[in-house]
Amino acid sequence: MIDQYDSKQISLVVPFFNERDAIPGFFKSVVPVLESIEAATFEIVCVNDGSNDGTLEKLLEISRRDARVRVIDLTRNFGKEAALTAGIDEALGDAVIPIDADLQDPPSLIPVLVARWREGAEVVLAQRASRSCDSFLKRTAALAYYRVHNYLSELKLPENVGDFRLMDRVVVNALKQLPERRRFMKGLFAWVGYRTVIVPYEREARNAGHSKFSGWRLWNLALEGITSFSTLPLRVWTYLGFLIASIAFWYGIFIIARTIVLGVEVPGYASLLSVLLFFGGVQLIGIGVVGEYVGRIYYEAKGRPIYLVRRRYQERRQTGQFAAGKRVVNLASVRRVSQER
Ligand code: UDP
Ligand code: MG
Repeated sequence: MIDQYDSKQISLVVPFFNERDAIPGFFKSVVPVLESIEAATFEIVCVNDGSNDGTLEKLLEISRRDARVRVIDLTRNFGKEAALTAGIDEALGDAVIPIDADLQDPPSLIPVLVARWREGAEVVLAQRASRSCDSFLKRTAALAYYRVHNYLSELKLPENVGDFRLMDRVVVNALKQLPERRRFMKGLFAWVGYRTVIVPYEREARNAGHSKFSGWRLWNLALEGITSFSTLPLRVWTYLGFLIASIAFWYGIFIIARTIVLGVEVPGYASLLSVLLFFGGVQLIGIGVVGEYVGRIYYEAKGRPIYLVRRRYQERRQTGQFAAGKRVVNLASVRRVSQER
């Protein structure tokens, strides 16, 4: 009996966007791993992020057979960050582990994460030991991104760490307090802090389907990361402005002096034009950067919810173990977050 009180619940949070083909393999490999963890119950919180390939039906089929599998159906595709937020909000466990549906985050690592958590870590990060399964371009871009981000931002992102990690309940509650609607989860995870331990792992190639992150989407994610955690791109224009203005000032003095000494000189229209075009470009870049931030302020100011839930599916009969009371409280706590990635 005492065992039951001691036993902790572990929540796996999985976003699904058109993952029909990956679902059977995912549950086949994840459930035995979770069952092998001693003195712990578990739940799998599946968030259907507006899939249109029958993912929901597949998930419901599994949840009907296994009460530990819960399904949260969002009203449309809100993007991975929002889907993850939804899942983390719904999770009830003492530890929460976000994991991808495509088995790129190896389930075999879960017991290791749990072991480190039991040793006292509040956050256990799974860090990719290598990126050998990514293309050369993606690898280089990722490396460059971490460099740039960590240079620009006060908040340092640990390199090659994705969303796959274990978070204690206290960390999850802290995360829930962050009100921003534009969610850059990696950054938010890092921002909350807490005692953190790193576990390295090898990332596999996708087991089915294809990546939902095109180059353009990754670029936007990168912009989101930098603008969410650094204002340096905004401030740098002041210094650039000063620099250019002072150069222009001394150049002006030089021209006046030269005119006094050598008299009026007519040529120089080519250099004039090039300087004009150069500064036109610089100004446009500056305005663009300001626009990136203003656009984000605009989204935050509207205060729309991060996601909308169409329905929560859960087998009621067999869920005694999952504390129905706790769940009601969870439903009532209305969470709001952004619409777009
Ligand atoms: N995903 C999602 N909504 C989206 C895009 C992706 O819920 O709009 C989920 C997807 O189903 C998967 C996880 O996020 O479980 C990671 O996606 P993906 O494997 O495409 O990303 P990658 O591994 O290429 O970074
Ligand atoms: Mg993937």
